[in-house]
Amino acid sequence: MREAAPLLRAEGLVRRYAMRRGAFGRSVEVRAVAGVSLTVERGRTLGLVGESGCGKSTTGRLVLGMEAPDAGSVAFEGKPLPSPGSAAWRAQRARMQMVFQDPLGALDRRLPVGAQIAEPLEIHGIGGKAERAARVEALLGAVGLRADQAMRYPHELSGGQRQRAVLARALATEPALLVCDEPISALDVSIQAQVMNLLVDLQAQFGMGVLFVSHDLRAVRQVSHRVAVMYLGQIVEEGEPDAVLHDPAHPYSRALVSAIPHPGRAGQRMVLQGDPPNPADRPSGCAFHPRCPVASALCAREAPVLKPRPDGRLVACHVAQGEAAPGQGILAKAA
Ligand code: SF4
Repeated sequence: MREAAPLLRAEGLVRRYAMRRGAFGRSVEVRAVAGVSLTVERGRTLGLVGESGCGKSTTGRLVLGMEAPDAGSVAFEGKPLPSPGSAAWRAQRARMQMVFQDPLGALDRRLPVGAQIAEPLEIHGIGGKAERAARVEALLGAVGLRADQAMRYPHELSGGQRQRAVLARALATEPALLVCDEPISALDVSIQAQVMNLLVDLQAQFGMGVLFVSHDLRAVRQVSHRVAVMYLGQIVEEGEPDAVLHDPAHPYSRALVSAIPHPGRAGQRMVLQGDPPNPADRPSGCAFHPRCPVASALCAREAPVLKPRPDGRLVACHVAQGEAAPGQGILAKAA
């Protein structure tokens, strides 16, 4: 029997931008996404984590077709994604929705939230007036808002309530895929856990696959079935959340994990040497080598490939793959 295609499969995505150095400087090419492949299964969540500027949000836009990749492909439910902006793509967007970071920016301040939740149904011609009204009420209930809050304007709701309204609108067309781009980072810490729990509940109820993009490894762990760690436009490690958090294989993942406050790890924070990543100035070989505490000479020459290990984890690192002995870091050697 043929295995069903995954909900979403992206292969070798590349996205380049032109960037000018200084006011009169020449334009340089920046690879924001440099060969990303990922899979989101039905009813499962893939967490995509990395520092600001690592290309994870761009990856989210590429898989939705909000931007066209310069290379690579995206297949949704086994079929190539239609060209961004085409009629076929617009029709497909009912099945693929996005939740943005700032709920106030994502909502129209001049419209009551109930009308905004109904909007995707109108755009895609789903249901009659009474059916849409019933659907809006059901969605408000599903995200923990009261029916009478449909008449409220965004500024009359709290930050957490606004993000609930954004989730209700994203779910209106019963999408198979939700891309959540930093959905909790604009919320108070006290509200973040509520919204993440809600996302987990909604997934159990609606069964959608989720790509959860965040800089926060703890948040990613809470909602994800699999985690992919990104550095400078590439995935450097991918695996089960507990495995990546308890035993990170890639030195960059180790640095991210060590930055999470934990009573058992007091004083063990791994401080990375070198400058934060600059996509306009991509290092040779492994892009992480100028900051890596165990970089060897091979790391500066040859880029590691993301490969499976016997434990099922994917890792792009010469040392973690046993292809090189741990060094002492290129910067340390040069000093
Ligand atoms: Fe990259 Fe080498 Fe460090 Fe592995 S050991 S992360 S390949 S620099």
